[in-house]
Amino acid sequence: MEDLNVNGTLIWYYYVCKREVWLMAHSISPDEDDENIDLGRFIHENSYGRKTKEISIGNIKVDIVEEKDGYVMIGEMKKSSRYIESARNQLAYYLLQLERNGITAKGTLMFPKEKKREEIELTKELVKKLEEAEKDIIKICYEPFPPKPIKINFCNKCAYREFCWS
Ligand code: SF4
Repeated sequence: MEDLNVNGTLIWYYYVCKREVWLMAHSISPDEDDENIDLGRFIHENSYGRKTKEISIGNIKVDIVEEKDGYVMIGEMKKSSRYIESARNQLAYYLLQLERNGITAKGTLMFPKEKKREEIELTKELVKKLEEAEKDIIKICYEPFPPKPIKINFCNKCAYREFCWS
């Protein structure tokens, strides 16, 4: 495994399946023929199609950016709130990355189909939680073996399911 950079995608995985974090970090390719989707694609497909703007800041890609009341506002549209905990932490991680680059930002998660939105602000507690997640991700990834599989609903959609369960 090359040097590991924790990113928003790994944070997303972390809150769904830690075994998948290890598999992704070790670039173990899921079954290419699998008509199901891997998590990366899943995240992509669950992001809303009509992106108004996408920008890259360092290794961060965010969907919508505007300046408002002295803050940079970043936003992400999702098709559903099913994996909201992961989505929250992923967006919060982008805020943390921006803060580390001297940019104060707030985030909005948008679920247009559900007519829902949620503001995300970086609190001290959230920073602490994300820093712990970062450390834990690195610890998981440097283990010689992946964590044992634990059956969750997401397994049915996961491209690693043959690998984990056959
Ligand atoms: S199949 Fe299930 S246990 Fe295996 S990596 Fe995917 S989500 Fe995790």
